[in-house]
Amino acid sequence: MPATPAWPPKSLPRLFVRTSLAEGARVELDAGQANYLGNVMRLGEGAELLTFDGHSGEWLARIADAGKKRMTLTVERRTREPEDVPDVWLAFAPVKRTQTDWLVEKATELGVAKLLPVMTRRTIAERVKLERLEAIAIEAAEQCGRTRLPEIVEPQPLARFLERRETGRSLYFADEGGGQPAASAFQSGPATILTGPEGGFTDEERAAIRAAPNTVPVSLGPRILRAETAALAALASYMTVAGDWR
Ligand code: SAM
Repeated sequence: MPATPAWPPKSLPRLFVRTSLAEGARVELDAGQANYLGNVMRLGEGAELLTFDGHSGEWLARIADAGKKRMTLTVERRTREPEDVPDVWLAFAPVKRTQTDWLVEKATELGVAKLLPVMTRRTIAERVKLERLEAIAIEAAEQCGRTRLPEIVEPQPLARFLERRETGRSLYFADEGGGQPAASAFQSGPATILTGPEGGFTDEERAAIRAAPNTVPVSLGPRILRAETAALAALASYMTVAGDWR
């Protein structure tokens, strides 16, 4: 059974870095990270922190050199092997910026493997800034102890998403019109959860999704949830029934 991380967390800061980590490696931090450690966390030379690069687990590092705008770390030893999150993707219709930010942050904490913004007829958000969403996912991963980041892909229209999807991957369609109760719908195995925009899917979209192979319409209960609540409730239900909360 996986361990629940100790809470409150030990006080070592955790930082994602874009350099590949290994014992003895030296890592140059960017100005933002140096500012965070030096000016916000008030850490100087010799201080310890945890770092991860998204693929090699988590490492204990020490500040070797602290300048005003730059900082160098030395990597000492691996503290955790890379973890595998369940193979569950979240395809969601982007909503307003604040709610989309919240969705990305929380989905990262819940353990999503991949995030796919899907543009539907009633999607209001016109632009999705991937860099911003990636920065939010990094911060959430730093905070919650993940050692791998979720992949975030370019937005795509619903029709293309349906055309290109691998049919071996179950598509759990959060359908406010009704479906299998979440408690019995989710099965282990590669999965994508699909949730709609504030205004819901159009009838044509619902029909196209329901007709797609290996699709399971899922009900998230008797109340209509806000789009971002529905996405996270579906993901939490999946983790409980078929993911790594079992
Ligand atoms: N405008 C729609 C209506 O009033 O029927 C509501 C859309 S809801 C705010 C946004 C999305 O959340 C839906 O497209 C669906 O994917 C999901 N959703 C919300 N409540 C749900 C429920 N009870 N069961 C399944 N999906 C739900």
